[in-house]
Amino acid sequence: MRKSVEILGGGLAGLSLGIGLRRLGVEVTLWEAGNYPRHRVCGEFISGVSDATLKALGVDHLLDGAVACRSTAWFHRDAEVTRRDLPEVARGISRHFLDARMAEEFRHLGGTLREGVRRHASENEGEVLATGRQRTAGEWVGMKVHIEGLELASDLEMHLGDRCYLGLARVEEDRVNACGLFRGVPGDPRNFPEVCRERGLNALGRRIAAAAVDPASFSSVVGLSFGWQVAGSGAGRLGGAGAGEEHTGGPTMRVGDHLAVISPFTGNGMSMAFESAELALDPLVRYAEGDVSWEEACRIFSRAAGRGFRRRLNVAGWMQSLLIGGVGQRLVASVARFPQFPFPAVYRLLRP
Ligand SMILES: Cc1cc2nc3c(=O)[nH]c(=O)nc-3n(C[C@H](O)[C@H](O)[C@H](O)COP(=O)(O)OP(=O)(O)OC[C@H]3O[C@@H](n4cnc5c(N)ncnc54)[C@H](O)[C@@H]3O)c2cc1C
Repeated sequence: MRKSVEILGGGLAGLSLGIGLRRLGVEVTLWEAGNYPRHRVCGEFISGVSDATLKALGVDHLLDGAVACRSTAWFHRDAEVTRRDLPEVARGISRHFLDARMAEEFRHLGGTLREGVRRHASENEGEVLATGRQRTAGEWVGMKVHIEGLELASDLEMHLGDRCYLGLARVEEDRVNACGLFRGVPGDPRNFPEVCRERGLNALGRRIAAAAVDPASFSSVVGLSFGWQVAGSGAGRLGGAGAGEEHTGGPTMRVGDHLAVISPFTGNGMSMAFESAELALDPLVRYAEGDVSWEEACRIFSRAAGRGFRRRLNVAGWMQSLLIGGVGQRLVASVARFPQFPFPAVYRLLRP
């Protein structure tokens, strides 16, 4: 290989790309602002990514130990709406565990990992941005906490509350990850039972209060925006780009949430992180071998990313407005009760 690659950001997108490139012999330096292990705001429910993508990146074995999730139960406020099986098995695994395991694998494969360094983008060729979602002045808040001793009605519970939705997913070590997206900051964010009650999820609040919350796992994030993330081209809104190329920011390669953020209810953001890393592999190897210029590598990636993500980003954005608003939630709750509701078709629209 004639050229090396630098990756800024060691979340799932940056780490899986780093692992994939190392396995193909590319020299990689990865910069991560934080340190492993660490909790992250994430539903920790991986759905949609194919085994072929995980294998292409060489990360499939790192998901060993994930909980197999097959069933879902949906609630509107305190009422159960429906129970549905997932069209395919999803995985529950904590980011605390997974990111650290991937970082170890990257090092093991000879990658250079610089932890605890917030690196500025140089805009030099060979630099991939995997630094996660871009902050905007917005009203969206994400929060998560791990809970022990909480019985679930299914492998995944989804709760629609007042200006929020919250998912409960089983992860390793018999823990449950509770993670929600809220419009506006809850009164006492660290007190999950109180947050639930405040948002009309009284029964869930009582269940969480009776279980053991792990305070060290609490994390929150503000200023979220959804859709393509490039400033000036629809960040914070759902860009309706034709090919998606204009959303990737010219001769810069952006992967994972730094490229586009899908609404969390889909449970597909981590899949998009893996998928975008897979799409970046081939152009980066060709760049490293000197077969294509940096501009060409970025163009190949952009086209593929536009094709791969546009539909699901648009559908997810449209559905999120339904799931957060009072009228939309009532509508969803009333139609989802019917056995004829095409859950598998909706699931498919939100995935590759
Ligand atoms: C409320 C909520 C719930 C969610 N639930 C789910 C779910 O159930 N299932 C799912 O699949 N997805 C879910 N997601 C989405 C998922 O968390 C993201 O899509 C995923 O984390 C994206 O991975 P990433 O590597 O792109 O970004 P991140 O995981 O955010 O990683 C980016 C990394 O870059 C580092 N960094 C940032 N700036 C710099 C810098 N300048 N230099 C060096 N390092 C830097 C950060 O420290 C971070 O480690 C959810 C998101 C939210 C907000």
